[in-house]
Amino acid sequence: MPIKKIKGKISRVTDLTSTSREIELTLTEELDFLPGAFVNIFIDIEGEKLRRAYSISSFESPSKRINLSVRKTPKGRVSPIFWGNNIIKKEIEIMGPLGLNTADKIINKKVYLFSFGIGVSVIKSIAKYLIDQIKIEDLTIYMGQRNEKEIIYKDFFDSISDRTKIKYILSQPTDSNYLNHGYIQDHIEKLDFDNSSVYICGQDKACQSLKERILDSNPKNIQFLIEGFH
Ligand SMILES: Cc1cc2nc3c(=O)[nH]c(=O)nc-3n(C[C@H](O)[C@H](O)[C@H](O)COP(=O)(O)OP(=O)(O)OC[C@H]3O[C@@H](n4cnc5c(N)ncnc54)[C@H](O)[C@@H]3O)c2cc1C
Repeated sequence: MPIKKIKGKISRVTDLTSTSREIELTLTEELDFLPGAFVNIFIDIEGEKLRRAYSISSFESPSKRINLSVRKTPKGRVSPIFWGNNIIKKEIEIMGPLGLNTADKIINKKVYLFSFGIGVSVIKSIAKYLIDQIKIEDLTIYMGQRNEKEIIYKDFFDSISDRTKIKYILSQPTDSNYLNHGYIQDHIEKLDFDNSSVYICGQDKACQSLKERILDSNPKNIQFLIEGFH
């Protein structure tokens, strides 16, 4: 798929949680992409053009409308802009689609999708792609979040729960009896990673730590695709 630079505007923002938002961009040309792809977004802030990478969280492709799911980084330069006044109609430019870890690269029929925080937006698109492709035989999805309020896209995951094994793993649940308490790393002991593809998305450090923990069990014929948000 050709990488293009396309101008556009922010056309809608929707709160996902108190610290994350879905940002809809309306572009002047269609963008053709696969789930797992990201775009570089160029935005003018106080006379300076800043660039940041954001994964595409919408499914429809090719399309002039794409969604990004953004977590507000405290003291960050770009992400808090999406919470500012007058953000609708703000002009931006994107470059994309970028990234090597697209859903078509998944080779095994047994697939694990793991996400940390806002990385769930990528896992959502990849899960939809895999289910639509019907090639997949065994799909397990674990999503790590801080607490119950941080769980996002639950309606989507509920809609595919009959075809997948889904767990929300919470590091600081408000319900002290919550069963899946901790980090994803604490809940993988019983999983069989032989002959599987493992897609991990979220903060780089968390992705690498999970990969190391999986490798501790010496899995055979495992494929890793890691989309680290550094
Ligand atoms: C491939 C890829 C895909 C990504 N996809 C997503 C996505 O889908 N959603 C998403 O939310 N993010 C995503 N990211 C992360 C995103 O690109 C940004 O890094 C993130 O939004 C933070 O940008 P920012 O400008 O708000 O923060 P920055 O200004 O870049 O700051 C980042 C951190 O550095 C600290 N910092 C900044 N300046 C200083 C300083 N002078 N001294 C000390 N500390 C400082 C800040 O406090 C903050 O913790 C992705 C990243 C990559 C590489």
